[in-house]
Amino acid sequence: MTIKSGFMGVLALSLAASQGVSAGTQVDPATALSMLKAQNQQFEQQVVKVADNVYTAVGFHGANTSMIVGDDGVIIVDTLRGPKSAASAYSAFRAYSDKPVKAIIYTHSHGDHIGGASGFTGAEQVEIYAMESFGSAEEGLNKSVNPIKIKRNVRQFGRNLPPHERTNRGVAPAGTEDRDGGTGFLAPTVKIPHGIHKTTIAGVDLEFHYGPGETDDAMFVWLPAEKVLFSGDNFYSAFPNLYAIRGTAYRDVLDWSASVAKMAELKPRSLVPGHTLPIQGAAATTALADYSEAIRSVYDQTVTGINEGKSPEQIAHEVALPEHLRDKPYLTEFYGTVHHAVRAIYVGLLGWFDGNPTTLNPLEPRLRAEKIAELAGGTRKLTRQMQGALKKRDYQWALELADQVKWLPDGDQKLAREVKIKALRGLAEREYNAPNRNYYLSYANELESGQLNQIWF
Ligand SMILES: [Zn+2]
Repeated sequence: MTIKSGFMGVLALSLAASQGVSAGTQVDPATALSMLKAQNQQFEQQVVKVADNVYTAVGFHGANTSMIVGDDGVIIVDTLRGPKSAASAYSAFRAYSDKPVKAIIYTHSHGDHIGGASGFTGAEQVEIYAMESFGSAEEGLNKSVNPIKIKRNVRQFGRNLPPHERTNRGVAPAGTEDRDGGTGFLAPTVKIPHGIHKTTIAGVDLEFHYGPGETDDAMFVWLPAEKVLFSGDNFYSAFPNLYAIRGTAYRDVLDWSASVAKMAELKPRSLVPGHTLPIQGAAATTALADYSEAIRSVYDQTVTGINEGKSPEQIAHEVALPEHLRDKPYLTEFYGTVHHAVRAIYVGLLGWFDGNPTTLNPLEPRLRAEKIAELAGGTRKLTRQMQGALKKRDYQWALELADQVKWLPDGDQKLAREVKIKALRGLAEREYNAPNRNYYLSYANELESGQLNQIWF
């Protein structure tokens, strides 16, 4: 059983026990909403002075962008998704320095960090630094699955949700301006070899450290004099998205943990994450050490379960963060979840087969549904069970039964669809993990508007 931090954990547990809820991120609706609302403070629009010569613009888009002020120019770390939001962050930076931009650094190749570069450069030619492996971030997945990836991305981020259903995206605000996404991208001009590379730009000493994690082409940037660390997306204030439900190839969890451990060893005075507010003082090192340990612990527990011959589902329900990490605000499952991480690690290490011969050739879904209906005493009784589950707010079970009824030739398809919509909304209302919540709501809306056919629902 996965446990959410602190007193919320108790709530999550009691709900899970009484309603057969399978995820550890379900709490009562008011609590879910107030947790998500509190998380919004992590990306309210502002410029944070991180050090005497370092400023971070938070909340100008989904990610952060930073400005390091040197002798005769400034250096920009990450550039947001598009030139419009980049230009607005840049103009906010101008209040602190009007020196020209000398260089841009991409911490990794995700679109929300690279698409706005032109918003900082105008006509000027500047050097753009990135890892030599830059661009490998999405290469693990074949472009042939783009049609479904795009749909799942829209659901995960709640891009089509009406305003009253929007909360946030876990580590980013809802409703960002994305129409110019990617149009300001400028290709890297300096490719940095993997390892540690030191340089001086505009009189500022910088170190680029290769740090694979969320992506294979990630680096973290270290200012030794100021003791400021730019972590990219290997750290932000939320449990890491070790797997993204929009669909991603396996993210090497061990690499991720090791990269964050290396950051902690630097003992930064200031930690600037790729998303969410900077963390100052000794708390920065603690946060990094905890983060690395949390990832490693989920990995180790999963591997133990795997070697005991357990299935991914079993392990996902057993793995929990160590007691001393459960109350850490930067490990709350607003973005990634332990459940999803466990299943991703399982598949990443062993592929889809769980070792149980029963699953080698499971029944075809329609045949299985027919047998389950038979077991229930007929389609009508199965349908009543489905309705009963919804009434009892046993939403996950209601979903699972609706997914049986939908296959039955004598099943009430319309009713099953209605139950599914209501169950999804019920889960969403109680969910504080933003991607889950957004996905449930988006899918419910798609079902309601008839965008999904019978196979899908
Ligand atoms: Zn990002």
